[in-house]
Amino acid sequence: MSGPCVLALGGLDPSGGAGLLADAEAIRARGARPLCVPTALTVQTTLRARGHTPVDTAWLLEAARALLEEEDVRAIKLGMLGTLPVARAVTGLVAEAVAARPGLWVVVDPVLFSSSGAPLLDATDEEARIAYAALAEFAVITPNAPEAQILLGWKEPPTHQASLEQAARELLELGARAALVKGGHASGPRSVDVLLKQGGQPVPLAAERLRKEARGTGCRLASALAAGLARGQELSWAARGAKQWVLEYLQQA
Ligand code: PLP
Repeated sequence: MSGPCVLALGGLDPSGGAGLLADAEAIRARGARPLCVPTALTVQTTLRARGHTPVDTAWLLEAARALLEEEDVRAIKLGMLGTLPVARAVTGLVAEAVAARPGLWVVVDPVLFSSSGAPLLDATDEEARIAYAALAEFAVITPNAPEAQILLGWKEPPTHQASLEQAARELLELGARAALVKGGHASGPRSVDVLLKQGGQPVPLAAERLRKEARGTGCRLASALAAGLARGQELSWAARGAKQWVLEYLQQA
């Protein structure tokens, strides 16, 4: 097998609604090859998340390092981390991988809760903030509005374009290479996300707001973005392509 790879580290959702199975689907659909290492094994159905167990961190590191050594990994995509020890191990792994491969993209989807409300990171808000701040310097970070609220310690989630832009600026101040703050939880006829990279201007990415609920859209968007970056696409081009692909996925869901 050949072709640019995305190494996805995230939770295994056996129902396939979200997590690594959704990541693999999106990465393949966007023309890259998925390599998947679980960080946590979850108990989930298509309706709800019931619990999760972390994997052994020594195994996780060995599995990911083997792939990084022998496969053509152009991007790493992080999803659910589950526990703080796993988050710390993954942060060390990412630092090591970026040092060894300048130009490697890292897309970080901060997964804190399932849509059914189950916690997917065993941590307080403050611990989550510290864990993601440590990853930010390597990353294009892709929070939705409630995740941005927690990561930035805001009282309210960002709800309109100006506050999404402000959230993106603050994520860059934390050190992120770029931020894609998703406005899907806001109201209005259009769903607007804001992309901002270091040294750039905010780019609004708007799409029709669909009255549809589907699981795993955050996983799919971040994975589709990572696949575009792995294929050498420019960041805003990859983000637009990823958003369009998720919209088509939602229309069919
Ligand atoms: N389970 C895993 C393993 C995930 O990575 C994620 C999301 O990112 C979820 C569940 C949450 O998905 P949903 O918002 O569809 O519940």
